[in-house]
Amino acid sequence: MRKILASFLILSGLISFGQNSTIEDLWMIYDSHDFKSVISKAKPLLENDTNNLDLNLVLGRAYTEQGDFTDAVPYLEFTVKNDIYNSSRKAWALGYLGTCYFMLQKYDDSEKSLNECIRLNSTKNATNNAYANSLLFGFHEFYENWEIVETDNFRFHFQNMNAAEIVKYTSVREQAYKEINGFFKSTLPKKIDFYVWNSKDDAKRILGADLGFSKPNFCIVHTHYQQTIGHEMTHVISNYTSEITNKTRFINEGTAVCFDQSNQDRLKLVKDWISTNNKPVAVKDYWAMGEKYAEEILYRLSGLFVKELIDNFGKDKFLEFFKNQTYEYGKFVFGDKLDTVIQEFEIKINT
Ligand SMILES: [Zn+2]
Repeated sequence: MRKILASFLILSGLISFGQNSTIEDLWMIYDSHDFKSVISKAKPLLENDTNNLDLNLVLGRAYTEQGDFTDAVPYLEFTVKNDIYNSSRKAWALGYLGTCYFMLQKYDDSEKSLNECIRLNSTKNATNNAYANSLLFGFHEFYENWEIVETDNFRFHFQNMNAAEIVKYTSVREQAYKEINGFFKSTLPKKIDFYVWNSKDDAKRILGADLGFSKPNFCIVHTHYQQTIGHEMTHVISNYTSEITNKTRFINEGTAVCFDQSNQDRLKLVKDWISTNNKPVAVKDYWAMGEKYAEEILYRLSGLFVKELIDNFGKDKFLEFFKNQTYEYGKFVFGDKLDTVIQEFEIKINT
């Protein structure tokens, strides 16, 4: 009997070891961002082991990362309901539910999930992540007196603006959205949550970041009320024009600047900067090492250059190139003429 029990224990140990290593493998694939493989491997396993919380969690998270929020919800909810030990699984499931509900525009459910995750306080990273999202999504008590105004394509949040100004502010942005998306033809997963701050200091204190910025994955913009109409919304809209495999700062920021709807004379500003600093610019350096250069010159230069690309190659080719924003892919899409355009552009700005 003892022998049988012992071999049974060894066997069940092997089975659970097998399961654990399978779960570990799935998380390794998850960490490599191959969410499609995670889903295709985890689904058949779940069919034979429907109550397995690890499998439910990894599936829910993989679907969320892929942007399939509706598909993610049942797996995450199952994990929350059935994790009777309130382990880190429940915490992560609640955090991811917070994201899914936000993206599905179920704002109350999103807030509840994030708060429950924060109250649970079971895993530091999950708690911090939920807290950061609750700040970003406008659920923190700091936003209690903000005014929310919904339009066709936005859900605006105003820190402090009077009714007449709000009418003007929102209609100008709706118009800009239509113009900008007339170019990109994107389908966004939800309205843009557009947070309009009066105080840059408040934003810095609450969000720990300088205004303005966008989080395209969440369709979120945080902006100061005086910032340009189009820059941040272009980041969000352009993110959904097609699947983007490679963003570069030079092209991504250049695109947002090009569509910012300000009437800055960028050519003059760039030429002035070059002569003041006595530093002629080489486009390919800025393109390859965008992170290295200051906003002051990189934004204006890249905005001018993106306009040059669109004027020379047209919208369709530009959008094809936008998926992979490197010089190498640019050569593939635009051909050798790209080098001529760069040369002529450099002559125009450096002399
Ligand atoms: Zn930007």
